[in-house]
Amino acid sequence: MTRPFHEYDTVRELVASGMNDCAISRQTGVPRTTVRDWRRGGEPGAKAVDRRRQFDATCPLCGDVELDHGWYAYLLGLYLGDGCLSEQARNVFKLRITLDLKYPEIIGECGLAIAQVRKSSDQKIGRVPKIGCVEITSYWKHWPCLFPQHGEGRKHLRKIELVPWQQEIVDGYPARLLRGLIHSDGCRGLNRVSGKGYPYYMFTNHSDGIRDIFCRACDVYGVHWRKSSWKTIAISRAADVAKLDLEIGPKT
Ligand SMILES: [Zn+2]
Repeated sequence: MTRPFHEYDTVRELVASGMNDCAISRQTGVPRTTVRDWRRGGEPGAKAVDRRRQFDATCPLCGDVELDHGWYAYLLGLYLGDGCLSEQARNVFKLRITLDLKYPEIIGECGLAIAQVRKSSDQKIGRVPKIGCVEITSYWKHWPCLFPQHGEGRKHLRKIELVPWQQEIVDGYPARLLRGLIHSDGCRGLNRVSGKGYPYYMFTNHSDGIRDIFCRACDVYGVHWRKSSWKTIAISRAADVAKLDLEIGPKT
């Protein structure tokens, strides 16, 4: 990650447009204290970088730890589908991803994705059993850096869109994002027509923004999609299903 240099210009432009530090931080993923420094004329030089390192060197956005783009794209898909962040005591955030108990391999893959994104030797990934599902949890002050979509209220009642650095990652790994989105809010089904089975993929989400993110990833990956209802996107042409099967396949 080349932060903070490539985001400096974006932040300065938003400052010039009159946006406040909190809003700029939310939109760009740049921590609010850094936005404040840059607003005051500080440049992303050595001093600022050192201070952020003390803040948390294991955060790919504040520190200089490399973010694994493929695993991030997958985890982002799970988060957008069935995840949330909630603030706990002392500015710690809980990442919670709710998964169906029917799919033990997806539960395992979610834990792996968190471990690959949150590269810390002392992390604990929790499994909280609920009726029919399990919550995978991880506590960290810096989850909002990685998921700037965090905000008040339900996701479908807020505007959800990716910030530029996320879009860049997702455009590089569209199938990984689609895998995460299908694993959380999608399915692979079978239509039976005169005894023959035709597989299809379906993605259902109440948020316009999240459906747009799904459709854009389909476009970038090169599969055709169609709306099958206001909240559901379907992929059903044989060649497109076969292409998705290379990266996703039945949920297990
Ligand atoms: Zn951070």
